[in-house]
Amino acid sequence: MTITLLAVSKTRPVSDVVKAILAGQHDFGENYAQEGVDKILALRALAQQGMLPESALLVWHFVGPLQGNKTRLVAEHFDWAHSIERLKIAERLSAQRPARLLPLQVCVQVNVSGEASKSGCAPEEALDLCQAVAALPRLNLRGLMCVPAPARDFAAQCRPLLHLRQLFMEIKARCPTLDTLSMGMSGDLEAAVQSGSTLVRIGSAIFGQRTNNKK
Ligand SMILES: *Cc1c(COP(=O)(O)O)cnc(C)c1O
Repeated sequence: MTITLLAVSKTRPVSDVVKAILAGQHDFGENYAQEGVDKILALRALAQQGMLPESALLVWHFVGPLQGNKTRLVAEHFDWAHSIERLKIAERLSAQRPARLLPLQVCVQVNVSGEASKSGCAPEEALDLCQAVAALPRLNLRGLMCVPAPARDFAAQCRPLLHLRQLFMEIKARCPTLDTLSMGMSGDLEAAVQSGSTLVRIGSAIFGQRTNNKK
């Protein structure tokens, strides 16, 4: 089984992304739509100038909170969006996805930490949301994603991750296109791999601590 490594390059300069590309990295994650689009365009320009290896086929993942006024940037420039938590946002992304591009690959974000985390739909709502998203013409439903609340130890880290994995198996029985379990960050990477992650989103463990605490 393979696990995709997503390098989360939020707040990092284009030069850091270039270094990662030269080291063989293809998949990049961004949290802020405009910052992500600026990097996507800068890297495309570098590629057109022959400054990147020809084999560098980049895949851009939007992983941050998705507000209605940011959906167009994501729909027009990214390959994936991991943070779908409401149908309204999914409908906007589908309507705004340009016809010349492949459908946007999406994950539904689930709040598996209860009160401790605000982002994501409730676990009880996930199946309905997945089925509604799967029916949208310009989106491909690929999986589930979570950002659990920080936990003290390994066992406590695994609990919400195993919950998401269980939900993934249940929903996959009804939505067979599901193949992606997007979980695991620098702090809970090992717990996520042990809990069945297929895609880990790693920022600081690749690029170093973020100094610029941009909101
Ligand atoms: C910042 C971020 C990451 C990466 O976090 P690190 O702890 O730096 O590895 C992963 N996923 C999301 C949604 C993020 O916002």
